[in-house]
Amino acid sequence: MGDAGARTVSFAMDHRGVCFRPVLIDFFRRNDIDYIDHGTGREEPVDYPVYVRPVVRDILEKNADCGVLVCGTGTGMAMAANRFCGIRAAVAVNEKMAELSRRHGHANVLCLGSRWVSGEGAVAILEVFFSTKFEGGRHARRIALLDKNCLPMKRLQEVDPQIFASIGRERRRQEEHLELIASENFTSEAVLEAAGSVLTNKYAEGYPGYRYYGGCEFVDEVEQIARHRALQLFGAEHANVQPHSGTQANLAVYGAILRPGDRILTMSLVEGGHLTHGHSKNLSGMLYAVTHYGTDSADGFIDYRSLEELAESERPKLITVGASAHPRTIDFERVADIAHRNGALVLADIAHIAGLVVTGLHPSPLPHCDFVTSTTHKTLRGPRGGIILCKKEFAKAVDGSVFPGNQGGPLMHIIAAKAVCFLEALQPSFRAYQELILRNARALARSLLRNGFHLVSGGTDNHLLLIDLRKNLPEMDGLRAQRLLEGAHISTNRNTVPGETRSSFSTSGLRLGTPALSSRAMGEAEMEQIGDWIGEILTAPAPEDRVLPVRDAVRALCRRFPLPYAHYEI
Ligand code: PLP
Repeated sequence: MGDAGARTVSFAMDHRGVCFRPVLIDFFRRNDIDYIDHGTGREEPVDYPVYVRPVVRDILEKNADCGVLVCGTGTGMAMAANRFCGIRAAVAVNEKMAELSRRHGHANVLCLGSRWVSGEGAVAILEVFFSTKFEGGRHARRIALLDKNCLPMKRLQEVDPQIFASIGRERRRQEEHLELIASENFTSEAVLEAAGSVLTNKYAEGYPGYRYYGGCEFVDEVEQIARHRALQLFGAEHANVQPHSGTQANLAVYGAILRPGDRILTMSLVEGGHLTHGHSKNLSGMLYAVTHYGTDSADGFIDYRSLEELAESERPKLITVGASAHPRTIDFERVADIAHRNGALVLADIAHIAGLVVTGLHPSPLPHCDFVTSTTHKTLRGPRGGIILCKKEFAKAVDGSVFPGNQGGPLMHIIAAKAVCFLEALQPSFRAYQELILRNARALARSLLRNGFHLVSGGTDNHLLLIDLRKNLPEMDGLRAQRLLEGAHISTNRNTVPGETRSSFSTSGLRLGTPALSSRAMGEAEMEQIGDWIGEILTAPAPEDRVLPVRDAVRALCRRFPLPYAHYEI
């Protein structure tokens, strides 16, 4: 097609455009143009913006020179494609429009409408589109102005194409994998925008109204809003929204009330606790005298009786309760009662279950516990970060322990994103989302049990499940299971299980959770299917042979449930 012609074209269509499929393929073949076909190949109704993305991505990543999109009118496709920086999608219903869109508009996507154009007409338009060159000159200046209206990722693309490309690949991984890692989620676009805002430029050591830097009036507003919403959401007396992470939040609580050498009673990492709950390689394990409680090895539930005995014999200053890998409801009231009867304070770490707690789907520790810490990025679906809630009497000690005790300047952009997350979590729809997480976890549990797996505690009350592989697959360790599933684009993480017999690197368990897939609006039917796929791979006589067939099916499922982002492309 001359030097204006494309070497590779990426194309897609919705159900209204599917009648043009053979026309396009025939045209590309006759003109020796390579093509990338993104469907749809069927007549069942589909949502056209979903089909635009892979074509746009091919062009922006330079896998294709041009794109062709077909729907009923061509305009839906053009509107969707033109939201992406660097894309110039033009509707053409005749050859003249096709010519000028190329000659003057430097169009890189042709949008056709099957309502206006016949098959023959489409061929004539394609011929003109692919043989017309951009004229440049005054039009080049105008085209450059088009992209000035674009979103920030355009700058990143120009300034640092390597990082831009890595972000693009990670985005694609998130899109094309089933995210079952229990601690991960997909934030809203509003949260992403706040996290990517100019607030990252501002230093604000201190607290609202008492800062060590000038110019803090607007970040003060942001932090006040975040604190106010946190109090409302959790029903707390005091909130500190500055911890950079869940780890910082826990260490700050310890720092507020403990001295090195003080005794703490916590759940061990192997039994489902967290590193910051006194693990020997974590500062919490180095600074304090740690005693661990755990689960009842027979059923995998927290062993409250032994916890009580240890509280009586050890007389700790603090008891920590909360978990990274415990699938059952935690009785915070009972632990607080044990702690207070034995002269201890109590910290509830609700990093995993915060979303369930604020929607009333898990009993809240707030009325019973002296301190509550959480991450904001798991079931709560906010930015990566931490938060501390406490009784008024501890407010000063906690604030001083966060700053200047453990941190310097707060991340104001992340605090803004936390505020957005709290606002979202206050909406009725957030409860519906958390209910979906729970229904999905139960459906996944049913499916895994049907496939012969053993679940710690026999099932789940919350968003996560823990498979103990030793029972039905004694030869399979957690590391191998995780890698096999990753090959099929099913993301999980290996985990120790109560009574663990392997190293913490290989482990005997797999942890799965449903928050992220519920954010993609997947439901119980999809969970049942995913449980079957996990069974299909892990229980096969030759698991490696099942990886690729399952991966194809996973990809198809992911396409039906897009990520909750539109313009943070690509
Ligand atoms: N507490 C619990 C129970 C967790 O599961 C986690 C993270 O997995 C943390 C604390 C630490 O959070 P971060 O990774 O933000 O430091």
